[in-house]
Amino acid sequence: MKPCTVHRPEEAIAYHYPEAVEWRRALHRFPQPSWLEFYATGLVAEKLSEWGYEVLLGRDIITPGERLLLPPPEKLAAEYERALKAGVKEKFLAPAKGGLTGVVGILRGAQPGPVVGFRFDIDANEVTEASEDFHRPAREGFASRNPGYAHMCGHDAHTAIGLLLALYFAENRDKIRGTVKFLFQPAEETLGGAVAMVERGVVDDVDYLLGCHVGINLKKIGQIALNVHSFMALSRFEVIYTGRPAHAALRPDEGRNAMLGACTAVTNLYAIARHGLGASRINVGILQSGIAWNVIPARAYLRVETRGVSDEINEYMVQRVRQILEGAARMHDLALEVKPAGTAVCARNSPDMVRLATEVARTLPSVEEIVEESPFNASEDFTVMMKRVQERGGKALYVLFGTPVYGGHHSSTFDLDEKVVQNGAEFFAALYDALVKDV
Ligand SMILES: [Zn+2]
Ligand SMILES: [Zn+2]
Repeated sequence: MKPCTVHRPEEAIAYHYPEAVEWRRALHRFPQPSWLEFYATGLVAEKLSEWGYEVLLGRDIITPGERLLLPPPEKLAAEYERALKAGVKEKFLAPAKGGLTGVVGILRGAQPGPVVGFRFDIDANEVTEASEDFHRPAREGFASRNPGYAHMCGHDAHTAIGLLLALYFAENRDKIRGTVKFLFQPAEETLGGAVAMVERGVVDDVDYLLGCHVGINLKKIGQIALNVHSFMALSRFEVIYTGRPAHAALRPDEGRNAMLGACTAVTNLYAIARHGLGASRINVGILQSGIAWNVIPARAYLRVETRGVSDEINEYMVQRVRQILEGAARMHDLALEVKPAGTAVCARNSPDMVRLATEVARTLPSVEEIVEESPFNASEDFTVMMKRVQERGGKALYVLFGTPVYGGHHSSTFDLDEKVVQNGAEFFAALYDALVKDV
């Protein structure tokens, strides 16, 4: 890598953009889902360390007990080995062994000032990527080489934005007033990574926290949304009913039918009376039960999620869900286990940050349109970090950067326009300058 000798932020970022495309494609080629992001962890840690960042990994940034939906040990070991074989250096990978993925990079400036945190999610989806020629990653040779997994939400581009920005700060250290802190977060897709980092205290010193997503409802390069709102609070649960197996003809009276209990629960979960003060959601995404024609099913497994437009409305849904699950267990004489499996909360962009970001966006040639209103209408665990920062007196902002997404998020033909990586890094660099200008 040649160092950059230009000084305007947009020129410096444009200079390194071709490298950022290479990083994005390397990540795209080697996708790993929640808690298995060993390749991304190694790649990011190596770059940050090379650029002079203090790099924190493993238990220094993740609370092990807070990791929800952790994959089984054999999967953790297999994906760890794969990342090593793909060329990641073991010294950066060892602290992440067993699913302690993610990276925090810290760079301090010579002058005093605030701690500005940038969060980028790094995980891929459990989707098989299209291999046909009409799909550009396949045509140009950077489609997933890790079968069953693919970057179909653009988190490879988020990681590349983070790296491009981190390189810009490393080369322009004189511009840093205070500290820049990069949070490369695992397990966004399962909504468990932010909690595990927040509980370790990684955002407790952050004065300004910035996060982003590409695409979503902004489909054109040059669009940006700063007034993003309507994040839904969310709670996910794994539910296990355990009954007793019995011969379906000889002694059905001795059986305790877990499938029947699960079905009773499902039909009643969808019948929860809705909260009058705002929208809520309920979904049972998985119900697995039964082993044979003539055996009373002794086990049923469900994945249930609730959402609400406020934390209170979501909490109302959670309480009703628990009552129904317990009621169905009593009705069918079953044991019940309910395991939390993911969390997002409601949070709002800090109004001062939206105002400042709008002023900054107006000055950038790469911004063609500032989309005034942008309801998110889904859940994102960045809200957990936002809330913690705001509760401690800091400010937070979540931004959307426009790009066409071709097949759509989470589909097998998702792709994006890589120009969004340059635009994203450029915007954050400019916003940083504005944030620390008067310090
Ligand atoms: Zn996603
Ligand atoms: Zn995403």
